[in-house]
Amino acid sequence: MNLILLGPPGAGKGTQARRLEDARGLVQLSTGDMLRAMVKEGGPLGQQAKEIMDAGKLMPDDLMVSMIGERIEKPDVKNGFILDGFPRTVAQAEALDTMLAQKGLKLDHVIEMKVDDAALVERITGRYTCAKCGKGYHDVFETPKVAGVCDACGSTEFKRRADDNAETVKTRLEQYHAQTAPILPYYRDRGVLKTVDGMAEIDEVSRQIEAIIG
Ligand code: ADP
Ligand code: ZN
Repeated sequence: MNLILLGPPGAGKGTQARRLEDARGLVQLSTGDMLRAMVKEGGPLGQQAKEIMDAGKLMPDDLMVSMIGERIEKPDVKNGFILDGFPRTVAQAEALDTMLAQKGLKLDHVIEMKVDDAALVERITGRYTCAKCGKGYHDVFETPKVAGVCDACGSTEFKRRADDNAETVKTRLEQYHAQTAPILPYYRDRGVLKTVDGMAEIDEVSRQIEAIIG
């Protein structure tokens, strides 16, 4: 099964994608994570990516499409994928359709996660992840069972994203509304768009997604 989780930054895409990986054996393909890995490796492309991301801007469409296209070919994606953070523009959505058709693949569901902007700022500025396994947490909404220790792997090191500050969040939300929200009618017209209430608590959002994918 191939899914897209679509929603503004902080909507809970990463949180739900991780649950779907565990429950369904799907692979989460987060273009944000891929780009951050590229920045960490350094090099000229990494440096360029860093500058664009630090400004809260979007990467070029063709780069993103080829990055996803290569990743989808890997054998671990055999049960299907969850795209998280991609596509971000209608041009990317069209390019994705073409690329999937060439590979004989299709999208089963595009799940929109609807959340108010005010809640997003609170979620993004409070989020952090385990430095070792990547599990996501939040200062208020999802704290580890034992303070300072990752539930999933026991690590005591955590990290916060450089772009998860109140100033950059504003630009990222503007980008979402201007560039990414127009994808919704694109998928609605193709009959694959479903919407969940991303304002609900994490378990309830998971239930709504399960009901859609069956
Ligand atoms: P995205 O991947 O869409 O940017 P995340 O999954 O990183 O969003 O979620 C952003 C923050 O909000 C995280 O700290 C996460 O723990 C928290 N969060 C996710 N879903 C919910 C929810 N339904 N209710 C409250 N907080 C949530
Ligand atoms: Zn961990």
